Amino acid sequence: MLTPKFDNLVKQLQVLPGVGNKTAQRMALHLLNQKRPQGMALAQALDVAMEGIIECERCHSFSDDDICPICADPRRDDSVLCVVETASDVMALEQTAGYRGRYFVLGGHLSPLDGVSADDLNIDQLVRRLKAEPVEELMLATSTTVEGQTTAHFIKDAVQNHVDTITQMAQGIPMGGELGYLDSMTLAQAIRRRSQL
Ligand SMILES: [Zn+2]
Repeated sequence: MLTPKFDNLVKQLQVLPGVGNKTAQRMALHLLNQKRPQGMALAQALDVAMEGIIECERCHSFSDDDICPICADPRRDDSVLCVVETASDVMALEQTAGYRGRYFVLGGHLSPLDGVSADDLNIDQLVRRLKAEPVEELMLATSTTVEGQTTAHFIKDAVQNHVDTITQMAQGIPMGGELGYLDSMTLAQAIRRRSQL
């Protein structure tokens, strides 16, 4: 213990993933010794983000305003809607720059063991959106875990009367992957979903 203010800073820093007491102490000392202006900027950015970042009314991703920049962008393709579990999935797909449609964030996946049921996800909102908007293709991009795939099937059943085409992102061999290192589930999926060269 140095001072109560220092101890509190160390305690609060430990809210970050992977940051224990030792690392938090090092971070706090680093800010105090060498980076006070940056520490102030960090505190301000945290304040602004925690107070100001809300859920987008349309896609349920993060947003500074009622509607997020992706939903507000008139150049995006309204005919394709990609369903993901979390806002972090939106970020991952945006970084590919390979998708120009819209998004819809479920808020997780079905997980009876953790007490997450369909009522806890934004599935009703998804159905409402499909009824109200001219979406032609719903692209399911939930995780490839058992829970993610159960969620995908549940959504398929819930929306199939409200959209023409339901697709799922391809699953299989990662780029640079060597077959010998892959699990048999992934390989079997890749064989089933092979495409013409
Ligand atoms: Zn949005």
